[in-house]
Amino acid sequence: MKILFGTRNKNKVLEGKDIFKRIFPQVELISLDDIDPQKTIEEPIEDGNSFYENSLIKAKYYYEKTLIPTICDDSGIVVDALGGMPGIYSARFSLGEDFGDLPIDKANNKKLLSLMKDEANRSAHYACVIVYYDGKNIYHGDGTMNGTILFEEHGSNGFGYDPLFYIDEYQTSLGDMDKDLKNKISHRYKAICSIAKTLSKSIC
Ligand code: IMP
Repeated sequence: MKILFGTRNKNKVLEGKDIFKRIFPQVELISLDDIDPQKTIEEPIEDGNSFYENSLIKAKYYYEKTLIPTICDDSGIVVDALGGMPGIYSARFSLGEDFGDLPIDKANNKKLLSLMKDEANRSAHYACVIVYYDGKNIYHGDGTMNGTILFEEHGSNGFGYDPLFYIDEYQTSLGDMDKDLKNKISHRYKAICSIAKTLSKSIC
């Protein structure tokens, strides 16, 4: 069975393909860039109030555009000392602020570091909600991963906030963690596992 992963985020696609191949090899996960490299399909407006609502908006939108059963991932980092921010706004946390020419992920990290400069409570988690939509059925799965926010970036693996996210159990940042290990413990892995269980019941 072919399932479209409705995202232009290349890092999410790499992680999603790797995770699906391992835990649900009956599914061939294809990306938007695979089927629409010219980017004729625009991205939808994510105006939901939760990871679930945004994931559902995206899954319905890309299914209607392609008629291919679709999963979407809405995810982000939730920082306790910041009252849960950036949360659903993680991708665009620093948008509209002056961080010079820094790429958006780097600017987001810089903003997070500056807000957390004097903060003793460093606890945070990543959250991911995956929604599947095929024109009829809606399924969803979610996952979280706990960690703490470092005082500076460590490592260049992963993407987004990974260099700032420290996992006690492995005594490393996600920026220094091997990608295979991240894909066995991450919020995305857990969300995909939980939706794969539902999907395998309905398609196998
Ligand atoms: P979305 O595309 O609206 O779901 O936003 C996802 C954003 O959350 C990304 O652009 C990153 O900023 C952050 N994020 C989600 N998952 C991860 C991860 O696994 N590592 C690092 N950052 C992540």
